This record gives sequence, C-alpha cells and structure tokens, in this order.
Amino acid sequence: MPEERTQHSEDSKGRTGPEDLRGSVAPFDRVEEGATAIATLRTKNHEGFGSRVRDRSHVCLACGQASVYRFLYRKNGCDILRCEQCGLGRAETMGFDPESYYTSDYFSGERPDGYADYIGTENILRREFAGTVGFIRKFRASGRLLDVGCAYGFFLHEAKRFFDVSGIELAEDAAEHCRRSGLNVFTGQADETLLGRLGTTDVIVLLDVIEHLPSPRDTIALLVNHLDPGGIIVITTGDFGSLYSRVAGAHWRLMTPPQHLWFFSQASMQAMATSLGLEVEHLDHPWKVVPLSLISFQLTRMSGLRPKRMAISNRLGLPVNLFDAMRVVLRKPSR
Ligand SMILES: [Zn+2]
Repeated sequence: MPEERTQHSEDSKGRTGPEDLRGSVAPFDRVEEGATAIATLRTKNHEGFGSRVRDRSHVCLACGQASVYRFLYRKNGCDILRCEQCGLGRAETMGFDPESYYTSDYFSGERPDGYADYIGTENILRREFAGTVGFIRKFRASGRLLDVGCAYGFFLHEAKRFFDVSGIELAEDAAEHCRRSGLNVFTGQADETLLGRLGTTDVIVLLDVIEHLPSPRDTIALLVNHLDPGGIIVITTGDFGSLYSRVAGAHWRLMTPPQHLWFFSQASMQAMATSLGLEVEHLDHPWKVVPLSLISFQLTRMSGLRPKRMAISNRLGLPVNLFDAMRVVLRKPSR
C-alpha cells in the first residue's frame, strides 16, 4: 500500500546524523559520473559561439562566489543558466509577477504548469503530509511550526496534531480557505512585516516552495532570524544534479520556468546553508505518493497536448521516486 511504502522508506533509513547525509549521497556517485559524462557530451554538442556569448557573471546566491553562469538552454522563453562553482541553476525571466500568477487557477488545472486539481486530491496529499510530519518529528517532536507557502493548509492540518501551527500563503483564495478551516494563516510574502507579527518559531517548512521564490537566499536569511536557536528549516525541492535532471535537460519534469526560478543541487543547497550559518543535518530523496491525476496531467503536458482535468484519478495515488527531488533538514546551531 502506498502509505506503508512511504513510512517504510523513512523508517528503514531512520537517519538523523551528518554521517547519514554522506550515506545517502554516496551511492549516487557512480550514477553521477555517468550523468556528468552525458551532460558534458550534451554541452559539447551545443557549445557553439552562441551559447558562450550567453554565459553570464553573477554573484551566486548559493555559494556566494562571483561565478560564471553557463548558458544551458532556453525553456518557455527563459534562459536557463548554471553556476560553475556549485551547480545552482537559475531561470532568467522578464517581468514575471508571482502575485498575479499564484491565484486559484494555479491549483485547479487552469495553468499547464500548476496543479491538476489540488483540492480534489486532499485525501492523498494529507496522507503524504502525515508522513512528512512523522519525518519532521524525528528532528523536532513539538513546538511552533510555520509553513511558508502553505496552499490550502493540508500539511498544517496534519502538523497541528503535534505542533502549534501557522502559515503564510500568497494566493488569497487558498489563504482564505485555510482561515475558514480554523488555521492561523496570513496572506502575503514571507517578509519582515509578516514574520514580525508571527514571532519566532521552532520549525519552518518550505515544501516545494523555494524554487518559486524571487530571492530564496534573502527569504531563508529572513527566516533564520525568526528561527529559535536549535530550530530547523525543512525544505523539499528538485535536485538539479540528479541523473534524471541531467539527462532530460530542458525536458525535465521540474524544468518549468517562470514558475520555477531556481534549481538547487545538493552542493548548492549545502553552500547556501553553510553561508547562512545553518548545518545540513539530513538530505535524502524520499519516496512520495503522487495523485494519479497529477501524473497524467504532467505526462500529457510533456507530450505536448493540452492537459485536462481527470476526476476519476483524484482518489488514487502511486508511490513514485525518480530520485530527482530532495528533502533537506537545516539546523540553526544552539547558542
Ligand atoms: Zn554557486
């Protein structure tokens, strides 16, 4: 059963320490070598005068180095570039406005890169989130928890059994949905004003959110200020260094600018955490139960057809792991 599968993958690992981080990364080395070779071949094939001209210099927000950003390809009208030092990917967009994009349309199949039917898949999502809460409790069993980008509050409803919860959500409809169900959720961005009203917290989660932020480093830095010493930040996002991402290139399922603006690798996540004074306590590529409707939605999109909503598959979920998405626990050292 999908639920057991999720639990199993977490329990069987039972990893908590920094040694475990190495343990979960090491087996990928050989796969990584192959991927690097393929990626190098691809780059060579496409490395003409044109792509070199499109390389850019940036101070990397992850590794903090003045670095060359290598042009990889264009997707959805955006240039995709990668930091040569740490592997962080960035999408260069023109005039993308998150506030006008993340509306109810995004969660109801009206946007090809959004969710097929977020509310309709509540049961499956909540089972998945219950597993995530169990995972988080291995690092912090209780206390105050803040969900940044909490959408319709499904995770918060699972978390409130153990934590004193609150959330921040940019989409007004979703935030209102949360408040109607009794959750303490604010509408807006995770800025100084909003965080000031919320006070400090023990656990901050960003579930598939960091890649959407206009400036993830600034946001995480702000969040660190509102995290109590010894507190944790839990992040899930794609792994740009994964085999699937490297081989699929512009066709990677998570390569969806301008919604996704940043593509972290394990090295870039580590670099950003360290430079913000956080310790990477855990990093893995978890199994996930995904609604069948979302799978068919993404497959249809990748085949070039216009995705349609599918009512029948909303209640069904499949355990999936393409090892191209990572889950990271960052700890703020105790004073
Ligand atoms: Zn970098």
